[in-house]
Amino acid sequence: MEPLVQVATQPGAPFRLPPQFEGLRRLAYNVWWMWHPRAALLFQRIDANTWTRYRNPIAVLESAISWDPLLEDPGFIAEYEDVVADLDHYLANGADHWFHRAHARQLGGPIAYFCAEFAFHESVGIYSGGLGVLAGDHMKSASDMALPVVGVGLLYRKGYFRQSIDADGHQEHAYPDFDLARLPVLRVLDRLGDPLFVPVELPDRVITAAVWRLQVGRVPVLLLDTDHPGNDESDRPITHILYVRGREMRLHQELVLGAGGTRALRALGIAPAVWHLNEGHSAFLLVERVREHVAARMPLEEAWATVRRSSVFTIHTPVSAGNERFDADLVRRVAGPLCAGGAAPGSASVPMEEILVRGRGADDDPAQFDMTAFSLRLANGTNGVSRLHAQTANDTWERLLGGRTIKPITNGVHTPTWVGRAMRELFERLLDADLDDLDGQSDAERFWDRVGRLPDAELWEAHLHQKRELSVFARQRLTAQLARHGEAPAALTEIGQWLDPATLTIGFARRFATYKRAALLFSDVDRLARLVHDANRPVQFIFAGKAHPADRPGQQVIQSIFARSRSPELRGRIFVLEDYDMRVAKLMVRGVDVWLNNPRRPLEASGTSGMKASVNGVLNLSVLDGWWDEGWTGDNGWAIGGRVTTPDEGAQDWADALDLYRILEEEVVPRYYDRGADGLPRAWLELMRRAMTTTIWRFSTTRMLHEYAEQLYLPAAGIAPAATAKRRVVTEAG
Ligand SMILES: *Cc1c(COP(=O)(O)O)cnc(C)c1O
Repeated sequence: MEPLVQVATQPGAPFRLPPQFEGLRRLAYNVWWMWHPRAALLFQRIDANTWTRYRNPIAVLESAISWDPLLEDPGFIAEYEDVVADLDHYLANGADHWFHRAHARQLGGPIAYFCAEFAFHESVGIYSGGLGVLAGDHMKSASDMALPVVGVGLLYRKGYFRQSIDADGHQEHAYPDFDLARLPVLRVLDRLGDPLFVPVELPDRVITAAVWRLQVGRVPVLLLDTDHPGNDESDRPITHILYVRGREMRLHQELVLGAGGTRALRALGIAPAVWHLNEGHSAFLLVERVREHVAARMPLEEAWATVRRSSVFTIHTPVSAGNERFDADLVRRVAGPLCAGGAAPGSASVPMEEILVRGRGADDDPAQFDMTAFSLRLANGTNGVSRLHAQTANDTWERLLGGRTIKPITNGVHTPTWVGRAMRELFERLLDADLDDLDGQSDAERFWDRVGRLPDAELWEAHLHQKRELSVFARQRLTAQLARHGEAPAALTEIGQWLDPATLTIGFARRFATYKRAALLFSDVDRLARLVHDANRPVQFIFAGKAHPADRPGQQVIQSIFARSRSPELRGRIFVLEDYDMRVAKLMVRGVDVWLNNPRRPLEASGTSGMKASVNGVLNLSVLDGWWDEGWTGDNGWAIGGRVTTPDEGAQDWADALDLYRILEEEVVPRYYDRGADGLPRAWLELMRRAMTTTIWRFSTTRMLHEYAEQLYLPAAGIAPAATAKRRVVTEAG
């Protein structure tokens, strides 16, 4: 059996290519290009305008370009052939990787990975934030490591909102309307070669979901979509909007994801050995699988136990209030027909009250169905996303866990996605790094251990290059925003002097939830004004981030920071960029000097943006929460406050603010501006190297997937620990 999953699809958009360049179609429909800058550059070379506007290879290939000059450009042809050969080589060599050699055949089937959102690239807007980025990075690393994984999610036609900020600082929401012909998705075919639709029973009707494939290197991701003419007009929008507000609509989405996703796998003959629920939104996959077993005449109790053995769950929220919950009556009504078997083949029912009792939350309220609690009770293994988070989650859920524990598997980031091009070029040229194969490197080849050898001048130049890229981008975005607000031409001209890359630049970008305390920096505005306006050692701050459309307090924080950025005392030193997305995230985590994070401990489960910054040599200045509690070594960035907190929030906030100012004034600013005769900040560069060395491997999704494989996937597949031990030998030898 071939453990890597293959999924047949219809051909893509019918644009014509010169036969010599047919390989571009394969490149455009395998998002491998998203973490291979040479492939992205190829599309940019074909049509720079379309690329700059959409950052989307399919849009480039569809635009009416003249191929003639390229057909006569030996440089382009050579680069094209090289890149296509790289992709083919990448795809052909899966069997070389450790997991494949050691376990894939034993596994007996792939790992099905379910998530409500996936973030692969800014051109595919089916994500909102951290959860999606983690899922996207998980898929990319699974591909790099040739793990047999199939992803399952929803294809949101309108995605998550695009943010703009008006002249008064109010967040405005606009929902895009994606043209599927321009997304790198293809319709999945069933085993007869017809477009696949899967049924989902809802009250008084059966809807169907079309299934699309988004190919991530070696890993297919199946995306379900209810917006097709076979459904009633009122059912078509079910998969339109990510994290839709209406509870009933949200429940519909989660039925499509969990039950529809399971049926899509079945229809394709894919038999997962392990089912991974990344967050509880997909928990109805558990119900659907129990129903299947009951339909095959398994006793109900045994069916629950069987499903549990092969299921694993990743919990993401530190406090029970943050979990997905539905009124039990809503679940009875909306999920009732599905649980009763409905029209599915081999109809059989799972008693609703059995489902609801397993979904009682930590407060045991019988009127609520808690997706996290349900997943926890039905998982063979569960992990939290950092050490500290696992501890917090174990406390929160202790009563429900009945002696089992939530394991810590700390998040990571997909290094090739987040390392900037200038820094990557340095790693490859000076350290002989192979970013596609982090776990294939023997001890002697581990380039991150040799980062200490990067010469000062070259490291600083690569960093400045990434800073300049951010500065150019941020000026453009601010100009567009302030022009829309009606600022005068003279005011717009002034922006050209802002965001000087020579100035110490501090970035803060994340979702604006109130526990993240984005406005902590403004606790003492006079002190902040003195800091940022120091004539010899100026400082500037760039903020970005969205607040959920329903989160009014979060939106008020944006408004207050926007007002500060326009105030006479801080103007020109504080900036707020609109429409935070993966593109802005990439530019910011690469292009600032310091990454600020000051949540209220321990409410940040992990955080990953700080990891993205650190692998670029950008220094973290953060509360000891989430990943930084274990990532801080004392010499790779700074810790705000300590590990002991007081329940008096006001007092804690003030104490943290004072510590933040102290570190900025006494450590960050002096160290940054301490220059040698050649203008290089030697001590700062040393910190940058420490940051990279201590995080590139430890906070990579490669390391994370090793842990998922060993601690969750293999046990859930019933593979004995002895076999796990043998793998270590294989990796170390290889
Ligand atoms: C990485 C990322 C996040 C998550 O970062 P946090 O540190 O968890 O806030 C959110 N949104 C985008 C666009 C990202 O790239």
